[in-house]
This record gives sequence, structure tokens and C-alpha cells, in this order.
Amino acid sequence: MKTEAMSELAINGGKRIRNKPYPPHVTTGPEEREAVMRVLDRGILSAYEGTDNEFFLGGEEVRALEGEWAQKFNVKHAVAVNSATSGLYAAIGAAGVGPGDEVITTPFTMSATSSAILGYNAIPVFCDVELDTYNLDPEAVRKAITPSTKAIMVVHIFGHPADMNELLAIAKKHDLKVIEDAAQAPGARFHGKLAGTIGDIGVYSLNCNKAIQTGEGGIVVTDDDGLAQRLRLIRNHAEAVIASGMKVDSLVNMLGWNYRLPEIEAAIARCQVSKLDKLTCQRIELVDYLNGKLSNIDGISVPTIKDGCEPVYYRYSLKLDRSKISATPKEVVETLNAEGLDFYVSYMSPLYLQPIFQERIVFGDKGCPFTCGHYQGNVNYSKGICPNAESLDQILISTEEVRPPQTTEDMDEIAEAIAKVLGKIG
Ligand SMILES: *Cc1c(COP(=O)(O)O)cnc(C)c1O
Repeated sequence: MKTEAMSELAINGGKRIRNKPYPPHVTTGPEEREAVMRVLDRGILSAYEGTDNEFFLGGEEVRALEGEWAQKFNVKHAVAVNSATSGLYAAIGAAGVGPGDEVITTPFTMSATSSAILGYNAIPVFCDVELDTYNLDPEAVRKAITPSTKAIMVVHIFGHPADMNELLAIAKKHDLKVIEDAAQAPGARFHGKLAGTIGDIGVYSLNCNKAIQTGEGGIVVTDDDGLAQRLRLIRNHAEAVIASGMKVDSLVNMLGWNYRLPEIEAAIARCQVSKLDKLTCQRIELVDYLNGKLSNIDGISVPTIKDGCEPVYYRYSLKLDRSKISATPKEVVETLNAEGLDFYVSYMSPLYLQPIFQERIVFGDKGCPFTCGHYQGNVNYSKGICPNAESLDQILISTEEVRPPQTTEDMDEIAEAIAKVLGKIG
């Protein structure tokens, strides 16, 4: 089979299926331009004050954005921040997590998820993922609970909601806070409820790669007045407490940072929020179309949709059945990309395999936070602790290019290239 058929592959000098690069991810247009000019004409580019007055809540655009976001996502409070990373830090801080505490999370996510935990001197405890959605496996979470567990940081990876019913039940039983990293999942639903609004605090990203974006930015949501107040304090140096005596129930984690979103980004975000539904619909239509095209190709499976879930496809992932396809994801990806596609092996390797966890070097060189005197546990970061997560680079490939402005013709090319490549190297 090699030789003749193989020579048709672009990687071996054959004709490529796709000959143009993917366009940059642009979600802005004339509306955003107008919004930016409105702010520039006003000349007030940021308006937070660290005192207990109305500007504690930021400027005109920030406050309008927060109101619109809260309404759209049906939550009591939205707090704008300058990135989802800032939002995750603020969420962990507001939840009262501190030295010696364990926070359960997934290893199959972007590093900011676990950095926010480390950022408060707490210990990320990584639990394995399910092999259908790649989200936290509630069974694994149940087994990982210790007296030190303080919170669960769940991620809705690729925009498919995690099993929030099970995770909330575990949290309730053990009195844990639940923080949702919904960076990839604005608009996704779990049994009708919007991802990010189901736990105690949810965090969305507005960075340039996400479904809607302001270049950099983030939004934190909660229904809890106390948490909202603490999030807003942490966003702005907690200065209102220090400088103007704003009353707080507790000084825990009232060491604030500067996580403030400026007015221009807030104005852009307001336009973007109004585009979310349309952009998401377009993504779903592209995915549905592509799924249909791929359904008769043997040896791959398209993304699973679990009962009651409405995913939004931040990334599109395909699982290879390695009993039918002997080529590794790395070989498949290299061959597909030579055809002009833009696929990746898996997405992230399990976070605990990163050097900071393997070497346990985070703050300074003395082993903090793992050697913290307040830490009573014994966290394990050995290879093998999350076999499913570790197996993903042997079965999973993914791409971001299943989003507008791509069209069904671009999906045709993806399907054609996958059929060609798997037909020849499979
Ligand atoms: C993008 C992303 C983040 C970080 O978002 P920023 O806005 O870039 O800080 C965090 N978690 C997940 C799962 C993400 O995909």
C-alpha cells in the first residue's frame, strides 16, 4: 500500500487539499469601532476608585458591561476583570482558599486553572477526566476528598459542560466551594443552566482566542453578594478596605491586586456580548455539518454530547480508535497539517507533569506551598495518577478552525483531508 497511495499525501510531495492559510480570528467590526471612539471621545479610559463610593465599581462602560452580562447570563453579579486568569485568582481568593488548603481540579486544562490555586498558597489536587468529554470525573473527585479539601475548580473543557449535578452533590456533602473555569464555555448549557452560573463562582475569558473577545479580558459571575464584594475588592487592591474603611466580614485574602478591565475593553466587550449567540450558533452549525461529513469515516469519533448538555465547541476534538488506526495522533496531525489543516495532538499534557509540579518549585526555592507547615496532606503528582488524561496524546487530535468566518466549504476540506489521510496512513 505504501509507495503509490502514500505519494499522493502532501507530506510526501502530493497535492495539498487546502492551499490558503486560515484567516485570523476576528470577531470585531464597525460596532466595536464606534464603541472605542465613544470612549476615546469621552477621554476617560478607566475610572475605578479604591474608595467606598460609586467608582469602587469602575467607570461607565465597565458598569454597563457588568449589568448587561449579568442580565444575559441570568446572574446577580458580573465583575469585569482584565483576564480570566485574574478572574480565577480573584475567585480562589474570594472563596477564602489559603495555605494548607487543597483544591481539586482537572489536569487537562490550560495552566491558569491550577496557577490560580497555587497563587493563594494552596495545593492543586489533580483528578482524572472522563474519556468522553475530557472533563473531571466525579468518581475520581469523590475519592480525592481529604480533610484539607476546600474547593473544586471545575473546567468545561472545549466548551462541553462538566457533570455539575454530581460535582455539586459532592461539594454539598463536604461543604466545598465550586468555582467554574468557564473560559471556553460562555453560552454552553448543562440541563438548561448556563455553564459558569451553576457553582458558587464562574469565570469567563475574553482573550483573543475565545468565542468572544476584547483582546484581553475576563468576567467573573456569582449570585452571592458577599463573594461579589470580595471579588470587587480583590480586583482593585482591596484598597477600599485599607483606605476608606469599607466594612468586610473577614480580612482573609483582602490582599488585592490590580485586575481592573479598562473602559475601551469594556466598551468592546459590550458589543461582543451581543454577538455571542450568533457566533455560537455559527460554530454549532459548522460542527454539525462536519460531524455529518465525518460520520462514515471508520476509526474516528466526533465529539460526544452528554445527556442534557449543550456544548459550544471552543475546540473541535476527534478521538482516534487506535485498534483501527495504527498511526499515532502525532503522525496524523503532521500529515493533516501538510494538507493545509491546523490540527494539534490532544490539547494540553496533564498539568502535574509540568516541571513546577514534578520539581515542586513554585514560590522561591524552599518547596512552598507544598512544604507549608499548614499543609497536612500528601499530594501525589506521580506519572500514572490520571491514566485517562495521560492517554489523550495517544488518541486525541483537535483544531480551533471550526468557527466563523469559516464556511461549510472549509469543513468540506477538513473532512476530505481526514478521509484522505486516514485512508492512506491509517
Ligand atoms: C483561556 C483560558 C484561561 C485563561 O484565560 P485568559 O483570559 O487568557 O487569562 C483559563 N482557563 C481556560 C480553560 C482557558 O481556556
